Amino acid sequence: MPDLYIDGSWTAGSEGVTAPVINPADGSVIQEVDQASRQDVERAVAAAKAAFSGGGWWPGTATGERAALLRRTADLLVRDKEDIARIETLDTGKTLVESRIDVDDVVAVFRYYADLADKDAGRIVDTGHQHVVSRVVYEPVGVCALITPWNYPLLQLSWKIAPALAAGDTAIIKPSEVTPLTTVKLVGLLEEAGIPRGVVNLVLGDGPTVGAPLTEHPDVEMVSFTGSVRTGQAIIRASAETVKKVAVELGGKNANIVFADTDFETVVDYALLAVFLHSGQVCSAGARLLVEDPLHDALVEELGRRAERIRLGNGLEPGSESGPLVSEQQLAKIEEFVASALEEGARLVAGGHRPDEPELRKGFFYRPTVLDDCRPDMRVVREETFGPILTVERFSTDDEAIALANGTEYGLAGAVWTKDIGRAHRVAGALRHGTIWINDFHPYVPGAEWGGFKRSGNGRELGPTGLAEYREAKHIWLNT
Ligand code: NAD
Repeated sequence: MPDLYIDGSWTAGSEGVTAPVINPADGSVIQEVDQASRQDVERAVAAAKAAFSGGGWWPGTATGERAALLRRTADLLVRDKEDIARIETLDTGKTLVESRIDVDDVVAVFRYYADLADKDAGRIVDTGHQHVVSRVVYEPVGVCALITPWNYPLLQLSWKIAPALAAGDTAIIKPSEVTPLTTVKLVGLLEEAGIPRGVVNLVLGDGPTVGAPLTEHPDVEMVSFTGSVRTGQAIIRASAETVKKVAVELGGKNANIVFADTDFETVVDYALLAVFLHSGQVCSAGARLLVEDPLHDALVEELGRRAERIRLGNGLEPGSESGPLVSEQQLAKIEEFVASALEEGARLVAGGHRPDEPELRKGFFYRPTVLDDCRPDMRVVREETFGPILTVERFSTDDEAIALANGTEYGLAGAVWTKDIGRAHRVAGALRHGTIWINDFHPYVPGAEWGGFKRSGNGRELGPTGLAEYREAKHIWLNT
């Protein structure tokens, strides 16, 4: 079956181009996928525009019908969970356990927005005049381009497509060229759930050929993007000409602050999970460990010992605790980061090399790495590595910890570990990040907003704000 979905039909690219999708666990080609041309992008936008047709039939469907479609899609995701999780693992390299959690999360997101769709239609505003009724109503924005990254292809898409459909928008989806497979699968499930023709369109291909034309197109009203800061900046610039709504969710350099009074065993487990989940390819990865002086030596030693024991392997194999990096380029980037850190004076505590096992040599694996004696001016501390590298810095006061954690251009997430709940709240309040975990790392719920301060982004996904992003507020003044 062809891989592009335009105006309700599966189709190959108009220029007949395909591109290989690589399995990062062994470098093999999983399959060739069709690539969209500029002409295909034009057709997809035209289809989405026709389905929206100026407040017409898709936005005009009953909210309950749109919610029902989201619920049916969630049920189909449950039905196909194992198949989807397997494809996500093949494509991204993450372990099956991680992929299954992703599918569960996606189901929860679809159900959350199905429930929220009809809860808030607007409000009546007091005008001070009895003969005047002032109403604020929420309407869909229109045609939305949804552009997603390779690390959480299915999950990141759900955070966009579920609220967009709940709001009554129509969409063109553009997944990462590196990991497109579960997006194709999800669009197939939306079709099976009964999505009307043209409401959802799927174009595959790289950023310059397929992403950029969407961000410049006069008929695209909104771009919702998740990815790197550099691409986010390009998208904001490209969208400026046609004054689109732009919501960008970008990178992070997230501090995990550990005070000496915390529970040692728990913090070891969570510090490893924080940074090594999906081999560190997580926007909210706890890649910067800030440790209060008295705990520093013992914690670093134990983290190093435990990191050395993490079992790398093909994510499809049950014994694998951590998978490969997504690509050869990503692996090369990580090697460069570690080399630069060592040159700048970091001390290697664990990892720092590709694995020795011959069966892993064909894949893009890198040993979980712990670097001590790091400083905020080092490149490995300043930049998002997006790999299995934990840097450790030490501090001796609350203010010093806060200054270190905030001393970055990013502001996505962070965590505070302490038994002193007053201190935890004071520090959490002072951190300029969109999400703070206290005595935890990584959990989220669909009902709570997600997004970045500073260069980590300008939008919010999830929660009621995640729906509001896909709506326009209209004020209607009625003088009776
Ligand atoms: P990327 O910026 O390279 O690519 C993201 C998407 O943008 C891809 O689909 C790509 O094809 C497309 N693209 C590239 N150039 C484009 C252009 N000029 N116009 C339009 N589209 C274009 O990012 P990536 O490497 O796929 O993902 C990793 C990044 O994503 C990391 O920085 C990570 O922190 C970030 N991320 C952030 C969040 C969050 O919630 N804030 C979540 C996941 C990932």
